[in-house]
Amino acid sequence: MQVEVITIGSEVLSGRTLDTNFAFVAGRLEAESIGVVWHTTVGDHAERIGDALRRALERADAVILMGGLGPTPDDLTRKAVSTALGRPLQLDETVLEHIRERVAQLGRRMPAAVETQALVPRGATVLENKHGTAPGLLIMERDKPVFLLPGVPHEMQALAAEFVVPFLRGRATGAVEVVTLRTTGVPESVLAERIGNLPGSWPGSALAYLPSPGGVDLRVTVAGSDAGVVAEVAQAVRRELLERVGEVVFVEGQQGLEEVVGALLLERGYRLAVAESCTGGLLAKRITDVPGSSRYFERGFVCYSNEAKIELLGVSPETLRAHGAVSAPAAEEMARGARERAGVHVAASITGVAGPEGGSDEKPVGTVFVGLASERGEAVRRFRFLGDRRLVRERSAQAALELLRRHLLGLPLEVGW
Ligand code: AMP
Ligand code: MG
Repeated sequence: MQVEVITIGSEVLSGRTLDTNFAFVAGRLEAESIGVVWHTTVGDHAERIGDALRRALERADAVILMGGLGPTPDDLTRKAVSTALGRPLQLDETVLEHIRERVAQLGRRMPAAVETQALVPRGATVLENKHGTAPGLLIMERDKPVFLLPGVPHEMQALAAEFVVPFLRGRATGAVEVVTLRTTGVPESVLAERIGNLPGSWPGSALAYLPSPGGVDLRVTVAGSDAGVVAEVAQAVRRELLERVGEVVFVEGQQGLEEVVGALLLERGYRLAVAESCTGGLLAKRITDVPGSSRYFERGFVCYSNEAKIELLGVSPETLRAHGAVSAPAAEEMARGARERAGVHVAASITGVAGPEGGSDEKPVGTVFVGLASERGEAVRRFRFLGDRRLVRERSAQAALELLRRHLLGLPLEVGW
């Protein structure tokens, strides 16, 4: 089944409002292996909304429209759909009653315009909106479902999860499987070189390289009419990809690196401390983003100044004088100090030049040292990250998490290719 999603709103078209509604729906449908094949955005303009819907009905098997169902004059979706499909608007008494009850609960007066939300195109099924006044609507147009959902994100999400996704899942034919392998530490060009032309040997598959500051996700979508064949190809894809690039794959699926590291610490019964300079707490923040991290995260030291590194971590003034705060010995002493002072199994440290100032020939902006200390010993790696301050900091935290992962798994800290 091929789905088209139409998001409606001049604020979305202008870029002022990010289209998170589309991201939500597309994500939910992808999780159900339902393919979104087109995505159109139109402003609050009745004619263009109608055009977009007509075009979508020509090429897609199902259409989801989101936005423009509110009570204000710029909300034109209901009217536009009614005109485009030749289905006059009719007052739905049940919806009107629901709206009146809702407004009464809020103890407010109801402006007459709110009642326009009880107008529904002829033949539409009403999808009850528990979080707002504008209901969702389902119109079966020549056997193709057309959903109309309000634009308010939490209302749209509830309606999509309750009605749209189950309905489309029930109508989907054919099978699709998605294999996602998340990698970090190696650029996409290097991954592509190692993976080579393999995808040609996987019938019905498409491989996407999805780079972000933290790494590259490899996502293979396998589609076909026979679910058994699709499952077999998906298994082969997974196996062959892991053979080639498994060394830099930190997880299969959607988890973040901080979750993976957290699970490894928990498994081993280890507690962790971190010492951060240029990341200013970003590493600790990411680790503690994970619910339940108190079971393995002990503390974080944010030591920006030399004094803090000396006082809180026991870094020797001599080291700082001789090598500077951005140096392998400083990173090593930071990790060792954090481990000893927090009394934990493992500690990681980060010190670097996030920029835009402070770089030198020897240590240009983006030079970052990550240190590790555990009962297995100490280690430091030097990195050079490109990008602005934000990117350097993000990449530093990601690199520290990856070093922790590799250390906990006993993998070499550096990838040999
Ligand atoms: P509407 O139902 O079109 O009046 O939308 C109500 C509100 O929902 C808007 O003011 C936006 O803040 C939000 N909204 C509408 N469309 C989207 C979208 N595609 N993504 C995220 N938020 C949206
Ligand atoms: Mg709007």
